[in-house]
Amino acid sequence: MKSANYYFLVFTLFLFNSGFSQNKISEEPNNKPNIIIIFADDLGYGDLSCYGHPTIMTPNLDRMATEGQKWTNFYVAASVCTPSRAGLMTGRYPIRSGMCSDKSRVLFPNSTGGLPTNEITIAEQMKKAGYVTAAVGKWHLGYQKEYLPASHGFDSYFGIPYSNDMDRANAEGVSHKEIFWNADIKYFNVPLIKNETEIERPANQNTLTKRYNDAAVNFIKKNQKKPFFLYLAHNLPHVPLFASKEFLGKSKRGLYGDVLMEIDDGVGKILKTLKETGLDKNTLVVFTSDNGPWLVYNDHGGSAGLLKDGKGTSWEGGMRVPGIFRMPGKIKPGTVTEIGSTLDLFTTVSKMANIDLPQDRITDGIDLSSILYGTGNDGRENLIYYRGQKIYAARKGAYKLHFITQTAYVKDTKKTFHKKPLLFNLETDPEERFNIAIENPEKVKEIEKMVDEHKSGVKPVKDQLAERIN
Ligand code: MG
Repeated sequence: MKSANYYFLVFTLFLFNSGFSQNKISEEPNNKPNIIIIFADDLGYGDLSCYGHPTIMTPNLDRMATEGQKWTNFYVAASVCTPSRAGLMTGRYPIRSGMCSDKSRVLFPNSTGGLPTNEITIAEQMKKAGYVTAAVGKWHLGYQKEYLPASHGFDSYFGIPYSNDMDRANAEGVSHKEIFWNADIKYFNVPLIKNETEIERPANQNTLTKRYNDAAVNFIKKNQKKPFFLYLAHNLPHVPLFASKEFLGKSKRGLYGDVLMEIDDGVGKILKTLKETGLDKNTLVVFTSDNGPWLVYNDHGGSAGLLKDGKGTSWEGGMRVPGIFRMPGKIKPGTVTEIGSTLDLFTTVSKMANIDLPQDRITDGIDLSSILYGTGNDGRENLIYYRGQKIYAARKGAYKLHFITQTAYVKDTKKTFHKKPLLFNLETDPEERFNIAIENPEKVKEIEKMVDEHKSGVKPVKDQLAERIN
């Protein structure tokens, strides 16, 4: 006859081995972490309080950065919306999918093209592992039906399918300044779409950020029992700026600060929901932006902090953005100076969810998980800076070489081809002030060789941005 203690011991061992033990759950990585990517639009490197902004207060993002990792060398695949988003979605430089162009920098409501359906998106990767997927917010990867999120692995979609300043209306005789600095939703006849159906036009942008935040929270609550992938791509702080009444006039930074406070409030609500649903430790939350600040909009545009220039350029201010990663107990808190890119999210989350990478095509991502988990530093060594279809610059380690430099969104966008490329050390000179090419000919050659190798692996494909109806 066995004692009661014996049965108690056997039962305890059973619980431990079957994963019922609390300790076991928190120690062992779940092989299907939930993934949330929060993507702001035109938010600059210097726009969050945790990245040094003196008057924009972003307490929730700051907390996310403290509890997780704040990356100081995090990049996007391009300095404008459409190609940047294509890079994030596919883990491939947009030149490979035809999603960058020298004829049109982004897609417009009457563009005929979009992200080709034979591209594999992060959402499609996650679907392979049984994830529920949702896109909330700005899409900007094609407005024709075959290019909408439903065709790219998303179970649901809610948002404005392109930029919030498109579809100008009722603006005849109204000055540019009036339209943007005194913005009214009537000037921007943009549709709000649910899955593939237009539900509101013009979209009421005053409550847009709030509704996106609410949709994100509801999605998490609804799918808390399943692994999920949520892509929350805010339309703001891209101009025209709008915020809910609750946030108007709240920031010392003015309307731009109000907008960021509302985005930050949504981050707080998402983190709170993860805690309440018990998903906090098994959910990777990433926060970043699609490109640098739109500087020509003065106080309605953001700031790249100490970085040079902004949106549309291949200077650091156009392409380097905040990058915050959080998953308590898994991601090692700290500031990371290694190089990362939104191109790496595809690879990193695929690896986290144990999904194989596509073998029939080149992907440009690096698995950042060793840095995220604090187990190594296998980060990105190099980066190519495209503007349209042309390579303007490239980075290898600390060094960045500019072949062409050009400002953006001003009347005279002077384009300078550098017969002798400009070399900067981004570690000692992040502002790109001191050209050190003459002193470092071997570095120049090394980067030129790297660019030649990259070019030889790029096959020409159809330009998806060039054609428009009318
Ligand atoms: Mg943008």
